[in-house]
Amino acid sequence: MSDIVYLDSHFVPKEQAKISVFDRGFLFADAVYEVTAVIDGQLIDFNGHFQRLQRSCKELGLSLPITKELLVDVHHELIEKNNLHEGLIYLQITRGADSSRFFDFPSSSVPSTIVAFVQHSTVVNHPNAKKGISVISVEDIRWQRCDIKTVALLAACLAKHHAHQQGADDAILIKDGYITEGSSSNFFIVNRDNEIITRPLSQDILPGITRQAIIQLAQEEGLKITERRFTLDEAKKAKEAFISSATTLIWPVISIDNEDINQGAVGHLSQRLRDIYLDKALKK
Ligand code: PMP
Repeated sequence: MSDIVYLDSHFVPKEQAKISVFDRGFLFADAVYEVTAVIDGQLIDFNGHFQRLQRSCKELGLSLPITKELLVDVHHELIEKNNLHEGLIYLQITRGADSSRFFDFPSSSVPSTIVAFVQHSTVVNHPNAKKGISVISVEDIRWQRCDIKTVALLAACLAKHHAHQQGADDAILIKDGYITEGSSSNFFIVNRDNEIITRPLSQDILPGITRQAIIQLAQEEGLKITERRFTLDEAKKAKEAFISSATTLIWPVISIDNEDINQGAVGHLSQRLRDIYLDKALKK
C-alpha cells in the first residue's frame, strides 16, 4: 500500500503528490520545515515543534497558512492513514509558486505550499542508541541564521556525506574553534564532574526541541546543566558526549575524529537521560 501524503489540503497517494517547478521552496530553498517523532502512534513534543515553526515563519516574513488545530489534525490523519506506529512526520511550508523567479517576494502573500508525509523508522530501539555513534569534526560552512529551520540543508548534506566517506556515522560542526552542533542535531558533552554542557542558543545553532526538553528534564532531575561554548579539544577530553534530535532523541557519541570517548563505551548519563526522556515523552 502506498503512503498517503498531505499536500495543500488534500491527502493523496505519494505518486500523486506533485508541486510546481516554480515553487520557491524548490528554486530558492524559501521554505521552513519541522520533523516530529511518533512513538506508539503519539506525537512527541508537538507543541514545541509548532512554536518553532511559528518563529521560523515570522523570521522569514512567511505567513503561517494553517492553524495549530488543523495541523494537529493533519498529523493525526497521516498517522492513521499510513498506519504509522513509530517514525517521523515531516512537514514543509514554502512561500509558494511564482513563475517570474524574482528573488524578492511579494509582501502580499501568494498561496504557500504545505506538504507533510510520514517516515516509518525505528525510534525507541534504534541500534545506535545502544551502541553509540562515531563522529568526525568538519568546518561549519552554513549561513548565519542557523536558528531558523529552513530547508537550505546542503551544508549539512555535505557534512554527513563527508562523515560517511570517512567511515564515521555523523559530523559535528566547528566554528571559530568551538563546536556549534551536529549536522542535524544538537551536541552535548558531560565533563568529569558530571556537568552536562551544551552551546547556548544564538543564531549559530538550531533551537532543538529535544535539546530544550533535555535541559528541562536535567534540571528536574537535579543534574547540573550549563549552556556555554566548548572547543573540540574539550569535547575530546569529555567523559561522555551525545547528540539530540527528534529523529534520534539521544544517541551517545563514543568517538570523535577516531578518538574514543569514555573508552568507546556508551556513557551512563547519556543512557539515563535517554531513558528519562522516553519515559516522560510517552506519559505526556
Ligand atoms: N540542529 C540541527 C542543525 C538540526 O537539523 C536538528 C534537527 N532537525 C536539530 C539541531 C535538533 O532539533 P530537534 O531536537 O528539534 O529535532
